[in-house]
Amino acid sequence: MTTTHEVRSQVAVTTTGSPLLSVRGLSVSYAPPKKAASLGTGAALSEADLDVRAGEVVGIVGETGSGKTTLARATVGLVRPVAGSIGFAGEDVGSLRGRALRAFRRSGQVQLVFQDPLRSLDPDLTVADVVREPLDIARTLDRRERDERVDDSLRLVGLDPVAVRGRLPRELSGGQRQRVSIARAISTRPRLLFCDEPVSALDVSNRNLVLNLLDRLRTELGLAVIIIAHDLSSLAGIADRVAVFYRGRIVEQGPIRAVLEQPAHPYTALLAASAPSVERRADEADRLRPEQLQPAAAGRAWPSDGVCVFAQRCPFAHDACTDQPALVPVPHDTGRQAACHVAATWRDRLDHDHEQPTRESA
Ligand code: SF4
Repeated sequence: MTTTHEVRSQVAVTTTGSPLLSVRGLSVSYAPPKKAASLGTGAALSEADLDVRAGEVVGIVGETGSGKTTLARATVGLVRPVAGSIGFAGEDVGSLRGRALRAFRRSGQVQLVFQDPLRSLDPDLTVADVVREPLDIARTLDRRERDERVDDSLRLVGLDPVAVRGRLPRELSGGQRQRVSIARAISTRPRLLFCDEPVSALDVSNRNLVLNLLDRLRTELGLAVIIIAHDLSSLAGIADRVAVFYRGRIVEQGPIRAVLEQPAHPYTALLAASAPSVERRADEADRLRPEQLQPAAAGRAWPSDGVCVFAQRCPFAHDACTDQPALVPVPHDTGRQAACHVAATWRDRLDHDHEQPTRESA
């Protein structure tokens, strides 16, 4: 049996070297197979590229339906990609089928934590049963080892096994329930944890507690953690990097601080400007206002297909935007990528004395 202490000592946390998860050109469509082959506007995820390393926390942010959850579902094998690859620990898990796919899912190497533990936890199972369930499915430990692993996992999330293992989910507080969800997810000692809006149903104190817990677990267990959120502010204190999703595409990714302070994509700028609670070190005078990032009232009518996904809402849209830009490195900005034809120059086009971009330049 491997104890918590042993797990901690075995794990060499590093956020350099080869990525644990390496997603390349990943496209997913919920349309019928024939239509999905053409990957029109119905694609839930289009040509996504993302790397995540062990010990790293990566935030993915975007509106409902932007493709965030689809990425998680594809990575754990719940939906099948129509194009691209999902490299996990050197294996293309996106191409697994049948028995190999079932074995990968059973192994619990990638686990999900859901937004609402009250709905995701079986109300009739005790805490011990809930946490043990993934171990029963994985079938790699005997009964005694599974019980020990349950207690160990509960202790790792700050719960006393003696006090909670016999309780039902409804007998716990919201914060305790979310910690039980995390204990369940880490019981198989996964290498990657996808957390879908893990704190949005919690009050502020429990929110901080759960975020601190995830931060601690990535160090203690050498976990790669992906946190799905709909606002940048909830990621500011914990994520190392962030990927911004819009309508099924990653429009920007990079170090969280750089993305918050100097967004390279107009949509990210709008998100950052609309999140007053985001802590910034940048001079407040540099801070953009949401009004500066609104398109002109009489906007251009854009075709529904092939154009930049943000064209309809973008104040800087111009003729070149009839072609969807690829996600490419931002000039003179290490580690940052953006999918915008004018990522390096749109700020120069802002008229800081007025609320709209200058007419002639946009
Ligand atoms: S490519 Fe064009 S429409 Fe898209 S974000 Fe950049 S300027 Fe706006």
